[in-house]
Formats: sequence, structure tokens, C-alpha cells
Amino acid sequence: MSALQAADGEELRDLYRELILDHARHPRHFGTLENATHSADGINPLCGDKLHLYLDVGDGVIRDAAFEGTGCAISVASASLMTETITGLDVAAATEWSERIMARLTGQGGTHDVEFGKLRALEGVREFPSRVKCATLAWHALRSAIEHESTPASSE
Ligand code: ZN
Repeated sequence: MSALQAADGEELRDLYRELILDHARHPRHFGTLENATHSADGINPLCGDKLHLYLDVGDGVIRDAAFEGTGCAISVASASLMTETITGLDVAAATEWSERIMARLTGQGGTHDVEFGKLRALEGVREFPSRVKCATLAWHALRSAIEHESTPASSE
């Protein structure tokens, strides 16, 4: 039985690796956003990953997200998964996601009750501390994009 479980675990890991590679090769939401209301740069000098994130926010909802840049497979896949995840979410929910993901990837958060879905694919980096910054880069950029415009025009 334990052999079977080990095989399952490995298969699952392969599946996640496939997902990472797929997103790295065919990143979703890659490009610029003409109507971006928010944007931020993310740089991870340790690896050389660079990205620029665009958000189109209206009525507190992230209507669209896009990114461009260059980086390793993990950083690109993470940005792709991130933009896919947050599109259509309200800003508060997206912020919550970024906090959860960063806590999870840096090993601080044990929020096992949360359904991470596809984002679990990123968890593999926890075994490689030097790659954690690759995976969190897009999420840092998300946070700074949101914060940069977080001076609401007014409280009307
Ligand atoms: Zn990287």
C-alpha cells in the first residue's frame, strides 16, 4: 500500500511539474494592458527574473491582469498562475491570496484548510529555498501594484 501511495505522490508531483512547464512555455495573460489602472515591477536579482505587472481595476474588482518580462520557468509560471487566479477577483480577495501564497511558500503559513487548487503546483519550490523568490516574485508585484494605487481617490 505504501508503495502505491508513493507512486501516487510522485505522479502528482509530475503533474504539478507539467503544469509549471505548461505555464512557463505558454504563459497566460502575457503582454501589456492598454487600460491598466495599476502596475508594478518585480525584480529578483538572485535569479535574474524581471516582470512588469498590469492590473485593470474598476469598482474594486480586478477586471484584467497581464504581465511581461523574462525569467526562469518558475517565475514565469507563477506570474501566469497568479494572473489567472486574480482576474475577476475583488482587490481584497486578491490581496488575501497573495498573503496566503507567500506564507505558504515561505513556510510560515500552515493554512491547510485553504483550497489552493492549481497553485499547489508552486509548493514544490519549498524544497529549494533559492527558488522561493522566483515563485513569490509575481505575488510581491501584485501587492505593490495594489498598494501603489491604494490611495483611494476619495472615500465618496
Ligand atoms: Zn527565477
